[in-house]
Amino acid sequence: AVEITGLCKSFGPLEVLKGIDLTVLPGEVVCIIGPSGSGKSTMLRCVNILEEPTAGKVVVNGTELTDPDVDIDSARTKIGMVFQSFNLFSHLSVINNLTVAQRKVLKRGEKEAQEKALHNLERVGLSDKVNAMPAQLSGGQQQRVAIARALSMDPEVMLFDEPTSALDPELVGDVLGVMRQLADEGMTMLIVTHEMQFAREVADKVIFMDGGYVVEEGPAADVIGNPQEDRTKSFLARVL
Ligand code: ATP
Ligand code: MG
Repeated sequence: AVEITGLCKSFGPLEVLKGIDLTVLPGEVVCIIGPSGSGKSTMLRCVNILEEPTAGKVVVNGTELTDPDVDIDSARTKIGMVFQSFNLFSHLSVINNLTVAQRKVLKRGEKEAQEKALHNLERVGLSDKVNAMPAQLSGGQQQRVAIARALSMDPEVMLFDEPTSALDPELVGDVLGVMRQLADEGMTMLIVTHEMQFAREVADKVIFMDGGYVVEEGPAADVIGNPQEDRTKSFLARVL
């Protein structure tokens, strides 16, 4: 589970997050929507302390990551993150992209790391790209490799920040398909997305953020299908 309470984040004088409370239960999929600049990425980055919260608490599977005494590197290995830009290691083959952190961070042996990598490439439908270099892959394939790489660390939680926003439209479906499959398998996921149809179909809960606050939250059918707040309504009118 991910438990966020009273999360605040400022960059100098700029208050970006103004007190966010959010719980993601084990196996739940929560989608975060909201206008540009509302703090969605900052919130996600605070979950694994890529950004240091200014105030508030973040607890992931019982470990308080905002506790200064906690070993953040170790805690972070249980949290997978996938970004808009795929961030593969361009000089490494697909298989080596998937094994390097397993070996260096988790200290897995080569054989175990390879097996884990092959299993996860199969999960994302890219078994035939084991030895390809990232530059030889389409954007959608690169993003699926990035997902497989994150999964190879056996994360307990997956964070996605607009994973399909940089993709050509015809490649979006494959990546969303992989995410849908993960959701069906019971992965705990926190997803920033502009894909409203995906959010409606897959999310257990949708959060609408604006101006550093959670303005509205609830089942997708309510927040997207029947929003109550004016700010949610006007956002959806622009994106739907
Ligand atoms: P988008 O939909 O465009 O990705 P977002 O909701 O993800 O937007 P954030 O990236 O979280 O928004 O940014 C929220 C605000 O925080 C913006 O005003 C941004 O300029 C500011 N911000 C983000 N990161 C930093 C930083 N490292 N230093 C200073 N300001 C930052
Ligand atoms: Mg963002």
